[in-house]
Amino acid sequence: MRLFFVFCIFLNSICLAQDIQPKIALYNQKIKQFLLLNPRDTVSVQVNEKGLFFKKKLLMDWDSLQKIENQYLNKIKQQQARLLLQQFSIIPAKPLLGWRIALDPGHFAGDLQTAKIEGKYLEMMLSDSTKIEFWESHLAWATAKLLQERLENAGATVMITRSRPEYTAFESTFKTKYQEYLQRHYGSESLIRQSIKSKKTRMPLPQNTFFQVFFKRDELRKRVEKINAFKPDLTLIMHYNVDEKNTGWDKTVSKNFSMAFVGGAFELEDLKEESLDDFVRLMCTQDTEKSVLLAQKVLHFHQKDAKVPIVPLKNDQDYLQEKCLYTGVQGVYARNLLLARAIEGVVCYGESLLQDSEQEIRRLNEKTLKVDDIYTSPRISEIADAYFKGIMSYCQNHP
Ligand SMILES: [Zn+2]
Repeated sequence: MRLFFVFCIFLNSICLAQDIQPKIALYNQKIKQFLLLNPRDTVSVQVNEKGLFFKKKLLMDWDSLQKIENQYLNKIKQQQARLLLQQFSIIPAKPLLGWRIALDPGHFAGDLQTAKIEGKYLEMMLSDSTKIEFWESHLAWATAKLLQERLENAGATVMITRSRPEYTAFESTFKTKYQEYLQRHYGSESLIRQSIKSKKTRMPLPQNTFFQVFFKRDELRKRVEKINAFKPDLTLIMHYNVDEKNTGWDKTVSKNFSMAFVGGAFELEDLKEESLDDFVRLMCTQDTEKSVLLAQKVLHFHQKDAKVPIVPLKNDQDYLQEKCLYTGVQGVYARNLLLARAIEGVVCYGESLLQDSEQEIRRLNEKTLKVDDIYTSPRISEIADAYFKGIMSYCQNHP
Protein backbone atom coordinates (compact mmCIF):
# COMPACT_ATOMS: atom_id res chain seq x y z
CA MET A 1 0.00 0.00 0.00
CA ARG A 2 2.77 2.42 0.96
CA LEU A 3 4.64 1.52 -2.20
CA PHE A 4 1.50 2.20 -4.27
CA PHE A 5 1.13 5.60 -2.58
CA VAL A 6 4.74 6.53 -3.33
CA PHE A 7 4.28 5.35 -6.92
CA CYS A 8 1.19 7.58 -7.30
CA ILE A 9 3.09 10.62 -6.04
CA PHE A 10 5.94 9.78 -8.42
CA LEU A 11 3.51 9.40 -11.36
CA ASN A 12 1.72 12.58 -10.42
CA SER A 13 4.92 14.61 -10.35
CA ILE A 14 5.96 13.22 -13.74
CA CYS A 15 2.58 14.21 -15.19
CA LEU A 16 2.81 17.69 -13.63
CA ALA A 17 6.34 18.12 -14.95
CA GLN A 18 5.16 17.07 -18.42
CA ASP A 19 2.23 19.52 -18.24
CA ILE A 20 4.44 22.50 -17.62
CA GLN A 21 7.10 21.64 -20.20
CA PRO A 22 5.30 23.34 -23.15
CA LYS A 23 4.82 26.43 -20.98
CA ILE A 24 8.50 26.48 -20.02
CA ALA A 25 9.42 26.14 -23.69
CA LEU A 26 7.09 29.03 -24.55
CA TYR A 27 8.60 31.29 -21.86
CA ASN A 28 12.12 30.53 -23.07
CA GLN A 29 11.12 31.14 -26.66
CA LYS A 30 9.61 34.53 -25.72
CA ILE A 31 12.76 35.50 -23.83
CA LYS A 32 14.76 34.81 -26.97
CA GLN A 33 12.33 36.37 -29.42
CA PHE A 34 11.29 39.61 -27.71
CA LEU A 35 12.82 40.08 -24.30
CA LEU A 36 16.60 39.79 -24.34
CA LEU A 37 18.48 42.17 -26.57
CA ASN A 38 21.47 39.90 -26.89
CA PRO A 39 20.65 36.34 -28.06
CA ARG A 40 23.76 34.95 -26.33
CA ASP A 41 22.35 36.08 -22.95
CA THR A 42 19.63 33.41 -23.21
CA VAL A 43 22.22 31.00 -21.78
CA SER A 44 22.26 33.09 -18.57
CA VAL A 45 18.53 33.79 -18.32
CA GLN A 46 16.25 30.76 -18.43
CA VAL A 47 13.03 29.35 -17.06
CA ASN A 48 12.73 25.81 -15.66
CA GLU A 49 10.17 24.09 -13.42
CA LYS A 50 11.52 25.97 -10.37
CA GLY A 51 11.15 29.44 -11.88
CA LEU A 52 13.10 32.17 -13.67
CA PHE A 53 16.88 31.97 -13.22
CA PHE A 54 19.72 34.38 -13.90
CA LYS A 55 22.86 32.25 -14.07
CA LYS A 56 22.20 30.04 -11.04
CA LYS A 57 20.29 32.60 -9.04
CA LEU A 58 16.50 32.31 -8.75
CA LEU A 59 14.93 35.63 -9.80
CA MET A 60 11.30 34.55 -9.41
CA ASP A 61 9.84 31.19 -8.36
CA TRP A 62 7.42 29.17 -10.47
CA ASP A 63 4.37 29.90 -8.28
CA SER A 64 4.90 33.65 -8.56
CA LEU A 65 5.13 33.35 -12.36
CA GLN A 66 1.85 31.40 -12.38
CA LYS A 67 0.21 33.99 -10.16
CA ILE A 68 1.09 36.73 -12.65
CA GLU A 69 -0.16 34.62 -15.55
CA ASN A 70 -3.45 33.85 -13.76
CA GLN A 71 -4.03 37.52 -12.93
CA TYR A 72 -3.56 38.28 -16.60
CA LEU A 73 -5.97 35.55 -17.69
CA ASN A 74 -8.59 36.87 -15.26
CA LYS A 75 -8.15 40.37 -16.63
CA ILE A 76 -8.67 39.07 -20.18
CA LYS A 77 -11.82 37.18 -19.12
CA GLN A 78 -13.24 40.35 -17.56
CA GLN A 79 -12.34 42.33 -20.69
CA GLN A 80 -14.04 39.78 -22.94
CA ALA A 81 -17.17 39.75 -20.77
CA ARG A 82 -17.32 43.56 -20.90
CA LEU A 83 -16.90 43.66 -24.68
CA LEU A 84 -19.40 40.84 -25.21
CA LEU A 85 -21.99 42.69 -23.14
CA GLN A 86 -21.56 45.72 -25.39
CA GLN A 87 -21.97 43.61 -28.53
CA PHE A 88 -25.58 42.83 -27.60
CA SER A 89 -26.43 46.49 -27.30
CA ILE A 90 -24.13 47.62 -30.07
CA ILE A 91 -25.31 50.30 -32.43
CA PRO A 92 -23.61 50.07 -35.86
CA ALA A 93 -22.33 53.64 -35.53
CA LYS A 94 -20.60 52.81 -32.21
CA PRO A 95 -18.36 49.83 -33.03
CA LEU A 96 -15.87 50.68 -30.25
CA LEU A 97 -18.40 50.71 -27.41
CA GLY A 98 -16.82 49.15 -24.33
CA TRP A 99 -13.20 49.71 -25.41
CA ARG A 100 -10.95 51.74 -23.11
CA ILE A 101 -8.17 53.49 -25.02
CA ALA A 102 -5.31 55.60 -23.61
CA LEU A 103 -3.55 58.15 -25.81
CA ASP A 104 -0.14 59.53 -24.93
CA PRO A 105 1.07 62.42 -27.09
CA GLY A 106 4.87 62.60 -26.79
CA HIS A 107 6.73 65.56 -25.17
CA PHE A 108 5.13 68.71 -23.74
CA ALA A 109 6.53 71.96 -25.16
CA GLY A 110 3.96 74.70 -25.71
CA ASP A 111 6.53 77.08 -27.25
CA LEU A 112 9.79 76.97 -29.18
CA GLN A 113 11.89 77.82 -26.12
CA THR A 114 10.60 74.80 -24.18
CA ALA A 115 10.86 72.63 -27.32
CA LYS A 116 14.57 73.58 -27.42
CA ILE A 117 15.00 72.42 -23.81
CA GLU A 118 13.41 69.10 -24.83
CA GLY A 119 15.53 69.03 -28.01
CA LYS A 120 12.41 68.28 -30.07
CA TYR A 121 11.97 71.01 -32.69
CA LEU A 122 12.78 71.81 -36.31
CA GLU A 123 14.07 75.25 -37.26
CA MET A 124 15.76 75.85 -40.62
CA MET A 125 15.64 77.87 -43.82
CA LEU A 126 14.89 75.96 -47.04
CA SER A 127 16.68 76.78 -50.32
CA ASP A 128 13.70 78.84 -51.52
CA SER A 129 13.85 80.89 -48.28
CA THR A 130 10.86 79.16 -46.69
CA LYS A 131 11.29 79.49 -42.94
CA ILE A 132 10.64 76.23 -41.09
CA GLU A 133 9.66 76.37 -37.44
CA PHE A 134 7.59 73.74 -35.62
CA TRP A 135 7.98 71.31 -32.74
CA GLU A 136 7.03 67.69 -32.14
CA SER A 137 5.01 68.21 -28.96
CA HIS A 138 2.32 70.23 -30.78
CA LEU A 139 2.09 67.74 -33.66
CA ALA A 140 1.73 64.82 -31.25
CA TRP A 141 -0.81 66.57 -29.04
CA ALA A 142 -3.02 67.63 -31.95
CA THR A 143 -2.84 64.09 -33.42
CA ALA A 144 -4.02 62.67 -30.10
CA LYS A 145 -6.87 65.21 -29.82
CA LEU A 146 -8.16 64.43 -33.34
CA LEU A 147 -7.84 60.72 -32.69
CA GLN A 148 -9.65 61.09 -29.36
CA GLU A 149 -12.59 62.70 -31.15
CA ARG A 150 -12.78 59.92 -33.77
CA LEU A 151 -12.52 57.17 -31.14
CA GLU A 152 -15.15 58.73 -28.88
CA ASN A 153 -17.51 59.13 -31.84
CA ALA A 154 -17.08 55.39 -32.43
CA GLY A 155 -18.06 54.70 -28.81
CA ALA A 156 -14.67 54.22 -27.09
CA THR A 157 -13.84 55.61 -23.64
CA VAL A 158 -10.65 57.63 -24.14
CA MET A 159 -8.10 59.19 -21.79
CA ILE A 160 -5.29 61.48 -22.85
CA THR A 161 -2.19 61.90 -20.68
CA ARG A 162 -1.91 65.69 -21.00
CA SER A 163 -4.99 67.79 -21.47
CA ARG A 164 -3.51 70.93 -23.03
CA PRO A 165 -0.86 71.44 -25.75
CA GLU A 166 1.53 73.16 -23.33
CA TYR A 167 0.91 70.81 -20.39
CA THR A 168 3.13 68.05 -19.08
CA ALA A 169 1.58 64.88 -17.66
CA PHE A 170 1.49 66.75 -14.29
CA GLU A 171 -1.24 68.95 -15.87
CA SER A 172 0.87 72.08 -15.57
CA THR A 173 3.59 73.56 -17.78
CA PHE A 174 7.29 72.76 -17.58
CA LYS A 175 7.89 76.41 -16.54
CA THR A 176 5.55 75.99 -13.55
CA LYS A 177 7.31 72.77 -12.53
CA TYR A 178 10.69 74.50 -12.82
CA GLN A 179 9.47 77.42 -10.67
CA GLU A 180 8.30 74.92 -8.03
CA TYR A 181 11.74 73.31 -8.12
CA LEU A 182 13.41 76.73 -7.62
CA GLN A 183 11.18 77.49 -4.62
CA ARG A 184 11.98 74.11 -3.06
CA HIS A 185 15.68 74.65 -3.75
CA TYR A 186 15.86 78.12 -2.18
CA GLY A 187 13.66 76.97 0.69
CA SER A 188 16.01 74.13 1.59
CA GLU A 189 19.06 76.36 1.02
CA SER A 190 17.85 78.92 3.56
CA LEU A 191 17.25 76.13 6.10
CA ILE A 192 20.79 74.80 5.55
CA ARG A 193 22.27 78.31 5.89
CA GLN A 194 20.39 78.90 9.14
CA SER A 195 21.53 75.63 10.64
CA ILE A 196 25.21 75.84 9.72
CA LYS A 197 25.40 79.66 9.59
CA SER A 198 27.01 79.45 6.15
CA LYS A 199 26.76 82.31 3.69
CA LYS A 200 27.51 80.11 0.70
CA THR A 201 24.61 79.42 -1.65
CA ARG A 202 24.33 76.32 -3.79
CA MET A 203 23.10 77.38 -7.23
CA PRO A 204 19.97 75.66 -8.55
CA LEU A 205 20.26 73.57 -11.72
CA PRO A 206 19.65 75.46 -14.97
CA GLN A 207 16.47 74.46 -16.85
CA ASN A 208 18.21 72.14 -19.35
CA THR A 209 20.01 70.17 -16.64
CA PHE A 210 16.90 70.04 -14.42
CA PHE A 211 15.01 68.60 -17.43
CA GLN A 212 17.69 66.03 -18.31
CA VAL A 213 18.59 64.94 -14.78
CA PHE A 214 15.22 64.88 -13.01
CA PHE A 215 12.21 65.99 -14.90
CA LYS A 216 12.30 63.87 -18.06
CA ARG A 217 12.16 60.54 -16.22
CA ASP A 218 9.70 61.74 -13.56
CA GLU A 219 7.34 62.99 -16.23
CA LEU A 220 7.46 59.69 -18.14
CA ARG A 221 6.71 57.85 -14.89
CA LYS A 222 3.70 60.12 -14.36
CA ARG A 223 2.42 59.10 -17.80
CA VAL A 224 2.81 55.41 -16.93
CA GLU A 225 1.05 55.94 -13.58
CA LYS A 226 -1.91 57.74 -15.18
CA ILE A 227 -2.30 55.18 -17.97
CA ASN A 228 -2.09 52.15 -15.66
CA ALA A 229 -4.63 53.73 -13.29
CA PHE A 230 -7.03 54.09 -16.25
CA LYS A 231 -6.69 50.33 -17.01
CA PRO A 232 -6.89 50.65 -20.79
CA ASP A 233 -7.41 47.83 -23.29
CA LEU A 234 -5.11 49.64 -25.72
CA THR A 235 -2.51 52.40 -25.39
CA LEU A 236 -1.22 54.43 -28.32
CA ILE A 237 1.89 56.56 -27.81
CA MET A 238 2.33 59.17 -30.50
CA HIS A 239 5.64 60.54 -31.73
CA TYR A 240 7.11 62.07 -34.87
CA ASN A 241 10.63 60.99 -35.77
CA VAL A 242 13.72 62.51 -37.38
CA ASP A 243 16.47 60.84 -39.40
CA GLU A 244 19.17 59.68 -36.99
CA LYS A 245 21.85 60.34 -39.64
CA ASN A 246 20.82 63.98 -40.14
CA THR A 247 22.27 65.27 -36.82
CA GLY A 248 21.79 68.99 -36.34
CA TRP A 249 18.51 68.69 -38.25
CA ASP A 250 19.26 71.88 -40.19
CA LYS A 251 18.69 70.35 -43.63
CA THR A 252 16.15 67.99 -45.16
CA VAL A 253 16.61 64.33 -46.14
CA SER A 254 15.13 62.42 -49.07
CA LYS A 255 14.00 59.44 -46.95
CA ASN A 256 10.74 59.04 -45.07
CA PHE A 257 9.42 56.14 -43.01
CA SER A 258 7.26 55.05 -40.09
CA MET A 259 8.01 52.50 -37.37
CA ALA A 260 6.53 51.32 -34.06
CA PHE A 261 7.88 49.92 -30.80
CA VAL A 262 6.56 47.40 -28.32
CA GLY A 263 8.07 46.49 -24.92
CA GLY A 264 11.09 44.18 -24.69
CA ALA A 265 14.79 44.03 -25.67
CA PHE A 266 16.08 44.09 -22.07
CA GLU A 267 19.76 43.92 -21.24
CA LEU A 268 21.09 41.79 -18.37
CA GLU A 269 21.56 44.80 -16.10
CA ASP A 270 17.83 45.61 -16.45
CA LEU A 271 16.82 42.40 -14.68
CA LYS A 272 16.34 43.99 -11.29
CA GLU A 273 13.66 45.83 -9.32
CA GLU A 274 10.72 47.16 -11.32
CA SER A 275 12.34 46.39 -14.69
CA LEU A 276 12.38 42.73 -13.65
CA ASP A 277 8.65 42.95 -12.89
CA ASP A 278 8.01 44.28 -16.38
CA PHE A 279 10.20 41.58 -17.92
CA VAL A 280 8.26 38.85 -16.09
CA ARG A 281 4.87 40.37 -16.94
CA LEU A 282 5.78 40.51 -20.63
CA MET A 283 7.01 36.91 -20.44
CA CYS A 284 3.85 35.57 -18.74
CA THR A 285 1.23 37.44 -20.80
CA GLN A 286 0.21 37.83 -24.42
CA ASP A 287 0.68 41.62 -24.27
CA THR A 288 3.69 41.67 -26.60
CA GLU A 289 2.12 39.48 -29.29
CA LYS A 290 -1.06 41.57 -29.25
CA SER A 291 0.95 44.81 -29.25
CA VAL A 292 2.83 43.63 -32.36
CA LEU A 293 -0.52 42.96 -34.06
CA LEU A 294 -1.88 46.42 -33.17
CA ALA A 295 1.36 48.08 -34.35
CA GLN A 296 1.22 46.12 -37.61
CA LYS A 297 -2.29 47.40 -38.32
CA VAL A 298 -1.43 51.00 -37.39
CA LEU A 299 1.63 50.97 -39.69
CA HIS A 300 -0.36 49.32 -42.49
CA PHE A 301 -2.69 52.34 -42.64
CA HIS A 302 0.24 54.75 -42.33
CA GLN A 303 1.52 53.21 -45.56
CA LYS A 304 -1.78 52.62 -47.36
CA ASP A 305 -3.62 55.86 -46.56
CA ALA A 306 -1.12 58.40 -45.22
CA LYS A 307 1.47 57.23 -47.79
CA VAL A 308 4.35 56.93 -45.32
CA PRO A 309 6.45 53.88 -46.20
CA ILE A 310 7.19 51.43 -43.37
CA VAL A 311 10.90 51.36 -42.52
CA PRO A 312 12.51 48.44 -44.41
CA LEU A 313 14.36 45.71 -42.53
CA LYS A 314 17.59 46.87 -44.14
CA ASN A 315 17.99 50.48 -43.05
CA ASP A 316 20.67 52.86 -41.79
CA GLN A 317 19.19 53.72 -38.36
CA ASP A 318 21.75 52.43 -35.85
CA TYR A 319 19.34 52.36 -32.87
CA LEU A 320 17.16 49.83 -34.70
CA GLN A 321 20.12 47.49 -35.07
CA GLU A 322 21.73 48.17 -31.67
CA LYS A 323 18.89 48.83 -29.22
CA CYS A 324 15.96 46.93 -30.71
CA LEU A 325 14.82 43.42 -31.61
CA TYR A 326 13.02 42.90 -34.89
CA THR A 327 9.65 41.26 -34.15
CA GLY A 328 9.24 39.62 -37.55
CA VAL A 329 6.69 42.25 -38.65
CA GLN A 330 8.04 45.00 -40.91
CA GLY A 331 8.60 48.24 -38.98
CA VAL A 332 7.76 46.78 -35.55
CA TYR A 333 10.56 46.44 -33.00
CA ALA A 334 10.79 45.46 -29.33
CA ARG A 335 12.63 48.21 -27.45
CA ASN A 336 13.28 48.85 -23.79
CA LEU A 337 11.50 52.20 -23.57
CA LEU A 338 9.95 52.93 -20.17
CA LEU A 339 6.54 53.62 -21.71
CA ALA A 340 6.57 50.56 -23.96
CA ARG A 341 7.44 48.15 -21.16
CA ALA A 342 5.87 49.61 -18.01
CA ILE A 343 2.39 50.32 -19.37
CA GLU A 344 0.25 47.25 -18.75
CA GLY A 345 -1.76 45.84 -21.65
CA VAL A 346 -1.52 46.27 -25.40
CA VAL A 347 0.82 49.14 -26.33
CA CYS A 348 1.83 50.65 -29.67
CA TYR A 349 4.57 53.31 -29.54
CA GLY A 350 4.34 54.93 -32.95
CA GLU A 351 6.88 57.04 -34.82
CA SER A 352 4.69 58.17 -37.71
CA LEU A 353 7.11 59.81 -40.13
CA LEU A 354 10.37 61.77 -40.47
CA GLN A 355 9.78 65.44 -39.72
CA ASP A 356 12.98 66.39 -41.56
CA SER A 357 11.90 64.51 -44.69
CA GLU A 358 11.62 66.70 -47.81
CA GLN A 359 8.28 64.98 -48.44
CA GLU A 360 6.90 66.10 -45.07
CA ILE A 361 8.61 69.25 -43.84
CA ARG A 362 6.63 71.84 -45.80
CA ARG A 363 3.33 70.19 -44.96
CA LEU A 364 4.21 69.98 -41.26
CA ASN A 365 5.20 73.64 -41.32
CA GLU A 366 1.72 74.74 -42.47
CA LYS A 367 -0.33 75.96 -39.55
CA THR A 368 -3.79 76.10 -41.01
CA LEU A 369 -5.68 73.48 -38.98
CA LYS A 370 -7.18 74.65 -35.69
CA VAL A 371 -7.21 72.01 -32.96
CA ASP A 372 -8.60 73.50 -29.74
CA ASP A 373 -6.39 76.52 -29.04
CA ILE A 374 -3.56 75.87 -31.49
CA TYR A 375 -3.02 76.08 -35.22
CA THR A 376 -1.16 73.12 -36.63
CA SER A 377 -0.57 71.14 -39.84
CA PRO A 378 -3.52 69.47 -41.64
CA ARG A 379 -1.09 66.60 -42.32
CA ILE A 380 -1.60 65.36 -38.75
CA SER A 381 -5.27 64.74 -39.52
CA GLU A 382 -4.17 62.08 -42.06
CA ILE A 383 -1.94 60.50 -39.40
CA ALA A 384 -4.80 60.50 -36.85
CA ASP A 385 -6.92 58.73 -39.50
CA ALA A 386 -4.22 56.09 -40.02
CA TYR A 387 -4.17 55.42 -36.25
CA PHE A 388 -7.96 55.30 -36.15
CA LYS A 389 -8.23 52.77 -38.99
CA GLY A 390 -5.48 50.63 -37.42
CA ILE A 391 -7.28 50.62 -34.07
CA MET A 392 -10.63 49.81 -35.71
CA SER A 393 -9.11 46.95 -37.66
CA TYR A 394 -7.48 45.57 -34.48
CA CYS A 395 -10.63 45.87 -32.36
CA GLN A 396 -12.92 44.32 -34.96
CA ASN A 397 -10.68 41.25 -35.33
CA HIS A 398 -9.20 41.26 -31.85
CA PRO A 399 -7.67 38.02 -30.60
ZN1 LIG B 1 9.31 62.04 -29.80
